[in-house]
Amino acid sequence: MILVFFGAPGSGKGTQAHELKKAIKTLSHISTGDLLRQEITSDSAFGRSIKYKIDAGEFITDDIILQLVTDILRKKSKKDIIFDGFPRTLNQAIAFDALLGVENLKVDVVFDFDIDVHELIERISGRYVCQDCGAVYHKKNRKPRIDSVCDQCGGTRFIRRQDDTAQALETRLKIYREQTLPVRDYYKDKGVLKKINASQTAAIVTENIKETLRSAGLMKEGE
Ligand SMILES: [Zn+2]
Repeated sequence: MILVFFGAPGSGKGTQAHELKKAIKTLSHISTGDLLRQEITSDSAFGRSIKYKIDAGEFITDDIILQLVTDILRKKSKKDIIFDGFPRTLNQAIAFDALLGVENLKVDVVFDFDIDVHELIERISGRYVCQDCGAVYHKKNRKPRIDSVCDQCGGTRFIRRQDDTAQALETRLKIYREQTLPVRDYYKDKGVLKKINASQTAAIVTENIKETLRSAGLMKEGE
């Protein structure tokens, strides 16, 4: 089963991937951001060339992303995967289909996380991050278990990302919607695009996703 989680930063893709993995044990969650970081950390020749590009402020091209995805598809023996943040361009989407075709796979469902801009601003403007380990918290929805102490690492220093302001967000969201429209249309034409109202609570969104998978025969009742 190949799923794509498609949506703006802050629309809850990571949270939902985590929830779905609890219900379907064979699922793995792949975000291209994580793939890039892993490759860089591994210090391979490819990783070093990626780091060089990022340090030089160069754009990460479709070729690089596709190479990473090709490698991960080759490595995974169980191919139940949620792709998060990929494909992001029409080129990537078309190339992805070709890659999957080689493995006799296809994209089963693309979940389009649709979120109201005001809701997104509310979510992201309350967000803060542990300076030591990068764990993400929210002043309303996700506080650390012990006040001002990171659940993950025990750190006590927290920061807010500078680009998490309302105006920067509105701009980012507008650009995101324009840029990703061709990808959305591509999957819509294939009949696999499923719009999810991501402004609802996480629990309701999870249930909607599961319901979609059940009616597509990708998940059993009761799972
Ligand atoms: Zn931490």
